[in-house]
Amino acid sequence: MGYAPQGEDRHVIVTEVGTRDGLQSEATFVPTETKAAIVDALIAAGVRSIEATSFVSPRAVPQLADAHALLERVRRVPGLRLTALVPNARGAERAAAAKADMMACFVSASESHSLANLNKPVDRALADFAEFAPIAARFGVPVRGAIAVAFGCPFEGDVPVDALLRIVDAYCAHGVRHVTLGDTTGMATPPVVERAVDAIARRFPEVAIALHFHNTRGVGLANVMLGLAMGVREYESSIGGLGGCPFAPGATGNVCTEDLVYLLHECGWRTGIDLEALCEVARAVQATLGRGLPGQVMKAGPRLRLASLDGVRRAVG
Ligand code: ZN
Repeated sequence: MGYAPQGEDRHVIVTEVGTRDGLQSEATFVPTETKAAIVDALIAAGVRSIEATSFVSPRAVPQLADAHALLERVRRVPGLRLTALVPNARGAERAAAAKADMMACFVSASESHSLANLNKPVDRALADFAEFAPIAARFGVPVRGAIAVAFGCPFEGDVPVDALLRIVDAYCAHGVRHVTLGDTTGMATPPVVERAVDAIARRFPEVAIALHFHNTRGVGLANVMLGLAMGVREYESSIGGLGGCPFAPGATGNVCTEDLVYLLHECGWRTGIDLEALCEVARAVQATLGRGLPGQVMKAGPRLRLASLDGVRRAVG
């Protein structure tokens, strides 16, 4: 089947975004020590790609005001890729000073979301990117180009594929070779993902596509299955399914990392991540935040962790 590895190459990159995408929607500021402990524990569990924080204005996102201190505190290991989100030239300089391994920039696929989220039209966001790309290059830091609301905009509905191609084209003109399609408000479904990935992969075969799904409507992992069948080898997720949706109070956040890793391993993919250790991190994050998170495998365990027959309550069905 298309979702399983076909040849020798069985590696899928899982990029953890919980301390960035997840914590930015928390009501309170999580102390830097706590964030660093989460990132260190993820690294110890085998995660090697982490979008840890963002160098956006601390006024806009006070939850991530400690970006520099966090990157300084994380215990780096060989092979680790620590990414920071960067909105502009000033952010790029700050990210380089904090020794980010990769900078992620972002542009919205729709005008309305760009104006609502970044307070600037898409053209201006692309111009800002053109300004910051050379700074990243000067510091020798690779750039990942993210596209927000790539699979649907909460204000405009469906996003034309041409809007995505135009942004990827602008990214490529500045040497970007990693593009993330972000499902910011959880509007992706398998047919929508198929159209977008197919169009970008055909036009830009040199670009490595990563998919960033939110599980807002419960179909995040179904979208991952479609991505696997289409050859996408990188997925972004958050530990425990941390996070939310700015336009839907109470909605769930990103696809959950340990549920994603469970699915990948069950399909025959390798991630280099220890699932049991990852579940422990997810439970620790729940304890830290003092509330339950949507992740399911951390509660139920892997399917072949068998239950004891002793003391089983009788039930039917
Ligand atoms: Zn997101």
